[in-house]
Amino acid sequence: MSKIIDGKLVSANIREQIKERTKAIKEKYSRTPGLAAVLVGEDPASQIYVRNKRKSCADVGIYSEEHKLPESTTEDDLLELIDKLNNDVNINGILVQLPLPNHIDESTILSSVTPEKDVDGFHPINAGHLFEGKPKFIPCTPHGIIKMLEFYNIDIEGKNAVVLGRSNIVGKPAAILLLQKNATVTICHSRTKNLNDELKKADIIVAAIGKAHFVKKEMVKEGAVIIDVGINRLETGKLAGDVDFDQVEEAASFITPVPGGVGPMTITMLLWNTLTSLEDSIG
Ligand code: NDP
Repeated sequence: MSKIIDGKLVSANIREQIKERTKAIKEKYSRTPGLAAVLVGEDPASQIYVRNKRKSCADVGIYSEEHKLPESTTEDDLLELIDKLNNDVNINGILVQLPLPNHIDESTILSSVTPEKDVDGFHPINAGHLFEGKPKFIPCTPHGIIKMLEFYNIDIEGKNAVVLGRSNIVGKPAAILLLQKNATVTICHSRTKNLNDELKKADIIVAAIGKAHFVKKEMVKEGAVIIDVGINRLETGKLAGDVDFDQVEEAASFITPVPGGVGPMTITMLLWNTLTSLEDSIG
């Protein structure tokens, strides 16, 4: 029987710190951290994500505004808006909700956000800082994963960590952070041969592939720590992770549930980055 890693609990703990720091900066400098969320199109999941992010901002005293643009928005129009936000002194963080419509080039847009306000940590300059081991803004989901492991005093150093998935927003940065914490890291993806053998060697598994219930009990070593990043909508309407929780829970020492695991941490680290951005700008 494993211990549940409670993302809501860790989140609440960090949000309390964010609230205190936000209050302190307001009292000392009369400044409020500000987040601008940019949403293009009508994707229902994106609308929910943006709404949740804004609600979380309000809960900790961070100002937020939403820029909702139609699906037909051109790349130039979007670049113009981002330029305006880059120069807005009341905005410390700019979040461009992904995915963008197909006619807009994602990397052009993400690179147009000034690195000083890139609270998602997706700008190539921030990716470079992370790669160097001197991060400024760490992508929120992998950052949240490390915070959860630390909260539960889970040893990372010297452990075999397998990251399942190699996206720029989750898999790759998660692998780099685990490496910086001195884990021995293996990254697996859709072309990996003998995936089950790789997983079976892992002391820590981070599953981020977007395939419901993919990781089964027989793939997991007894006592492994399981971090499930996946968010998959089942036909029943329920959410499921990339890990078959009911099975794997029996083998794991620690496991994150879905929902209530990594998800809340992702938003929390966005708040963290927005506040840090203001603090850094004040010096
Ligand atoms: P992407 O689709 O960008 O990447 C998926 C990765 O998984 C790819 O590297 C792909 O390999 C790999 N993959 C796909 N199928 C397999 C397979 N059968 N075996 C091995 N590897 C496979 O996804 P994201 O990283 O953006 O997201 C992953 C999941 O995490 C999604 O469910 C997403 O919704 C969720 N998510 C959750 C967040 C949270 O806050 N909890 C935040 C962000 C994402 P290849 O590169 O070879 O194609």
